[in-house]
Amino acid sequence: MPPTPAHESKQGLLVIVSGPSGAGKTTIARAVHDAFAGSLLSVSLTTRPPGPRETEGVDYRFVDENEFLARIDRAEFLEHAGVYGKRYGTLRAPVDDAMREGRLVILEIDVQGAKQVKSQIPDAFGLFVLPPSEDALLERLRSRQRDSEEVIQKRFARARDEMAEARRCAVYDRFILNDDLDRAIGEAIQSVRERLG
Ligand code: 5GP
Repeated sequence: MPPTPAHESKQGLLVIVSGPSGAGKTTIARAVHDAFAGSLLSVSLTTRPPGPRETEGVDYRFVDENEFLARIDRAEFLEHAGVYGKRYGTLRAPVDDAMREGRLVILEIDVQGAKQVKSQIPDAFGLFVLPPSEDALLERLRSRQRDSEEVIQKRFARARDEMAEARRCAVYDRFILNDDLDRAIGEAIQSVRERLG
C-alpha cells in the first residue's frame, strides 16, 4: 500500500474531561491517558499556587499573572478561563502538534474552556463526570482537606451551576456517573474506544 500523504493522514481525537471539583475527573482523565498508548494528557497553565501534593509540570505549570497575560497577548492559548479568581489555560501548540501526529489528546478543563474548544474543534469528544449525589460531592470536597469551609461552600455552589450549564451547552457527548470509580473509568475508556471506531 502506498504511504498516506501527510495531508490525508488521520487527525487525532480531542477528548475533553470536565466535572465539578471532587467528582473524580482527574483520576478518570489519568485512567483514559493510561489506557491509550501514545495519548497526550495536556498540562494546563494556572496562576493559582501549587497544592502540597502537586508537582510543577505534572499537575500544572504554575505561572504568575504577568506570564499568563503575556501568553494571552501572544494568542498562545487554545482556551483559557477564570476560576475562583485564578486563571487556567491550555496552550495551543502541544495540542496542535499531537493532533497532527494522529494522537489522542486529553484536556481536563472546565465548562467555560470546553465551550471555547468545541467552537474551534467541533469533533472534540466531551465527557462530563458527575458525582453520585450532591451530598456525596460535598462530602468529597470536605474529605480532600485541601480547602477551608468557606472555599468548600464556594466550590459546591459553583459545581451545581457547572452541572446545570454542562447539560444546557451541547458540548458533552457522555455524562458519566462516578458512583463506583472502577465502573466510571471503564465507561469513560469504552466511550472513547467507541468514538475512535
Ligand atoms: P483545580 O484548582 O481544582 O485544580 O481546578 C479548578 C477548575 O479548573 C477545575 O474545574 C479544572 O477542571 C479547571 N481547569 C484546570 N485546568 C484548566 C484549563 O487549562 N482550562 C480551563 N478552562 N479549566 C481548567
